[in-house]
Amino acid sequence: MDGKPLLEAAGLVKSFGETRVLRGVDLAVPAGTVSVLIGPSGSGKTTVLRCLNALERPEAGLVRIGDVSVDFAALPQQGRRAALRAETRLRAQSGMVFQAHHLFPHRSALENLLEGPVVVQGRPREEARAEALVLLERVGLKGREDSLPSQLSGGQQQRVGIARALAIRPQVVLFDEPTSALDPELVGEVLAVMRDLAEGGTTMVVVTHEIRFAQQVADQVLFLDGGVVVERGPAAQVIADPREERTRRFLRRLL
Ligand code: ADP
Repeated sequence: MDGKPLLEAAGLVKSFGETRVLRGVDLAVPAGTVSVLIGPSGSGKTTVLRCLNALERPEAGLVRIGDVSVDFAALPQQGRRAALRAETRLRAQSGMVFQAHHLFPHRSALENLLEGPVVVQGRPREEARAEALVLLERVGLKGREDSLPSQLSGGQQQRVGIARALAIRPQVVLFDEPTSALDPELVGEVLAVMRDLAEGGTTMVVVTHEIRFAQQVADQVLFLDGGVVVERGPAAQVIADPREERTRRFLRRLL
């Protein structure tokens, strides 16, 4: 490796209608590290994640994961099909864990994990199945392979969601407030799985209000406000000793 970060975003600008939600966001995530995005509601955290996964198309900016990059400003000139192909290719580089898990309700935990690798990536079913069983065990769900989402607790469902994101063998896993829809007593088990992944070297970008998790697990914390990164650095600095008044005010409200 030449020392380049595994994931890089530069100059992301995104508007919804007249409202500019991202005003030039830069992000660099080295392989095997955890970056946590914090910030007030509406500051653009989810939109950043969705741009990294090409679920949103920013007006400007570049996203690169590994050797796959998309220059969003140039996409419109490439024609519709080429643009979609480029976005699909970028999307395949990252796995997304959503706030609500979005599992297929009539399929078992195991079947939920096969959709991406088998249907989307065209990998052999048996190989994907063997890998899915390992992933379910990794998130603590050995023995629950045949359960339907409705037969699982919210925390278990979200752990299936994490295993599903891993099933496509992504280079990076993106977490969009993975615990904020859970009952408080279920938050810990999901954070424990995320901590375990981080310790195992999974490259992660996490949007969360769990400041303690950020303090313990993040290599880098970014504080967003008004569509810009106001402050970034190691957790020990941004959370324990923030330089910016806006960061201090936000953390005071949270802690
Ligand atoms: P955060 O994750 O920090 O709460 P978001 O990225 O979800 O912030 O949203 C940033 C702003 O963009 C908010 O004002 C939100 O209402 C707006 N927004 C997000 N998605 C859409 C959308 N699909 N259409 C219109 N506005 C949106």
